Amino acid sequence: MFKINDNFRNIGESYLFSDIARKVSHYLDENPDANIIRLGIGDVTLPLCATVVDTLISASREQAHSDTFQGYGPEQGHKFLRELIVRNDYASRGVSLDYDEIFISDGAKSDIANIGDILSADNLAAITDPVYPVYLDTNIMTGRPVHMLPCNEDNDFLPKLPVSVRPDIIYLCYPNNPTGVAMTYDELGEWVDYANHIGALILFDSAYEAYISDNDVPHSIFEIEGAKTCAIEFRSYSKTAGFTGLRCGYTVVPKELMSGNVKLNDLWRRRQSTKFNGASYVVQRAAAALYTDEGQRAIRQNIDYYMANAALLKNSLTNCGLRVYGGKNAPYLWVKAPDKLGSWNFFDILLKEANVVTTPGIGFGSQGEGYMRLTAFSTHESTKDAASRIHKLFNK
Ligand code: PLP
Repeated sequence: MFKINDNFRNIGESYLFSDIARKVSHYLDENPDANIIRLGIGDVTLPLCATVVDTLISASREQAHSDTFQGYGPEQGHKFLRELIVRNDYASRGVSLDYDEIFISDGAKSDIANIGDILSADNLAAITDPVYPVYLDTNIMTGRPVHMLPCNEDNDFLPKLPVSVRPDIIYLCYPNNPTGVAMTYDELGEWVDYANHIGALILFDSAYEAYISDNDVPHSIFEIEGAKTCAIEFRSYSKTAGFTGLRCGYTVVPKELMSGNVKLNDLWRRRQSTKFNGASYVVQRAAAALYTDEGQRAIRQNIDYYMANAALLKNSLTNCGLRVYGGKNAPYLWVKAPDKLGSWNFFDILLKEANVVTTPGIGFGSQGEGYMRLTAFSTHESTKDAASRIHKLFNK
């Protein structure tokens, strides 16, 4: 009889968003007139910008003529997009990369999950708690041992370099989902030095780099000296440009990154060529349109819109005595529950007394207990309304 991958039995069932939906629906059954505001959503709400939509249409039209039709493209992505990334996302920040160190994909999630294919199941993976669940669950699926790095108020939500264990793989996501906290050049530099010293690999998720406003926060780990010998970086157009439905992202695997005498760039190319047939041509054209002046202006406008929401929420909640983290270089706010309330109790109070839906921090790991994640992805009007309801509730 065939056997399943037994490691799947060890993944915690993710009931978080279904539990939230159930609680909200139950509340609405009993209070059908309630005006619910959702600040738990991790998806963007602003539509695609005009230049992206125009490009999607024109690239689709190319597919209607045999002389411009595109079939299978290169598995690693089209050169036109990879070269734009090298110039605009990296050279502009002083990072020199070759286009073949960039691998285009259908988004960061699949790359973050699939990178484990080229790494041994024996490696010890260090993962922050709270965490974007993909890092943890994909390691459990592989049966890879995991060491959690607690991130809480005591360490300003930044993991400490491990002392009791020596990880082989380290997952870092800054600016962070869910805490909204960012790492400075010096703080990330310590991890790069540490990884090079012990021969570990850093998997750096910079899905939220476009939200950075502080000058002392790096947009890419490759801005740190020495990172090319110890890090892989994941980027996404999802939260940057509203591509959550369109799907496009990329991964940077430097050619200097080696395990013994094996280049990880070669391994990842081999993995992608075997298991992936490339992101859609039309979508890659749309991503390329983001690097025009118009595309850049639209990205800025949308991010400014969301970050104005974040600032408003942070201000209002702080003013009524709540402890609020993040919300400066990331579209997430990490709010400490008052009076030692648990995450779900805090959730219930906000739902029932303010009609605001949030995400309980416990859903991101045990260190998230007692916290709530709010996102800045709603409209100005709803955000303002939610902020004033929460303010009224706690400003007693
Ligand atoms: N990384 C982090 C930290 C995220 O929060 C998300 C999405 O929420 C992703 C990656 C996934 O990005 P993508 O939509 O490109 O798969």
